[in-house]
Amino acid sequence: MHMPNKYTLAVHGGAGTILRSEMTTEKEEAHKRALRDALRAGEAVLRKGGPALDAVEAAVRSLEDCEYFNAGRGSVFTHEGHHEMDASIMCGKTLGAGAAAMVQGIRNPIALARRILEASDHVLLCGPGALAFARDQGLEEAPPEYFFSEFRYRQLEEARARGSAQLDHTQKYGTVGAVACDRQGHLAAATSTGGLTNKRYGRVGDSPIIGAGTYANDLTCAVSCTGYGEYFLRGVVAYDVSCLMEYRGMSLAEAARHAIHHRQLALGGDGGLIAVDARGNVALPFNSEGMYRAWVREGEEAGVAIYRE
Ligand code: ASP
Repeated sequence: MHMPNKYTLAVHGGAGTILRSEMTTEKEEAHKRALRDALRAGEAVLRKGGPALDAVEAAVRSLEDCEYFNAGRGSVFTHEGHHEMDASIMCGKTLGAGAAAMVQGIRNPIALARRILEASDHVLLCGPGALAFARDQGLEEAPPEYFFSEFRYRQLEEARARGSAQLDHTQKYGTVGAVACDRQGHLAAATSTGGLTNKRYGRVGDSPIIGAGTYANDLTCAVSCTGYGEYFLRGVVAYDVSCLMEYRGMSLAEAARHAIHHRQLALGGDGGLIAVDARGNVALPFNSEGMYRAWVREGEEAGVAIYRE
């Protein structure tokens, strides 16, 4: 097997209708800073020779702690005015996976997904059960005020005023994610989200679903998606990228592009993904206006971008 000795890491802070005309320089810089902080958190692990799994968890935690993105602290409101968060993580070496859906009051849902991977016999835990497990594991909780922001609450009021729990196309998907290849050539992927503003009836999107929002396999790639979850669920997008590589012999770039620009577009799905393979390649395709993203290869300068460039 090809054994790279250089690590690769990419993160995203969501895709969607991110318009230059609605952005201020300060807002752009603040988002870019947060993406760079997340890269740094993941790189700190990889530089020491640590595992990709620890790196993606660290990078996603950093994004969950930042109020700009729709995950952890910055999660959007449900119809009822709560926060229900979803997260998942997968190890490309063991194909071990952990995921949590509809979690309330846990500061870092990605840490919960990781504990589910490490310390339970299950892959996906939901709602009150996931919370009970988080408490058993001693994970940090946070009160509703921690997750509150005026901006998000206004978003909820606007969505309620439109009178529907539906998405509209001005939606910005602020989900966060990370993918990494470590110095041993092992891959991992992680994704975390607050879901969609004004969601109800226990709606869960692609982010906590292994194969849809998150997938990692050392033989192919590690993928984290962001976008209109219903379409990413139906397209089984993260696993699709892996399958296109495994069964059709596509490169990472070809497979990622095909999944987003052909299959998702054909389905009507709007969004993007980040992906790495074990050879140090990175792919960051999106079919929306923009996607908050940053990436780094060991020894090279990091890249940070928001729009199509
Ligand atoms: N995919 C997420 C969901 O549908 C949303 C996002 O990417 O921001 O829950």
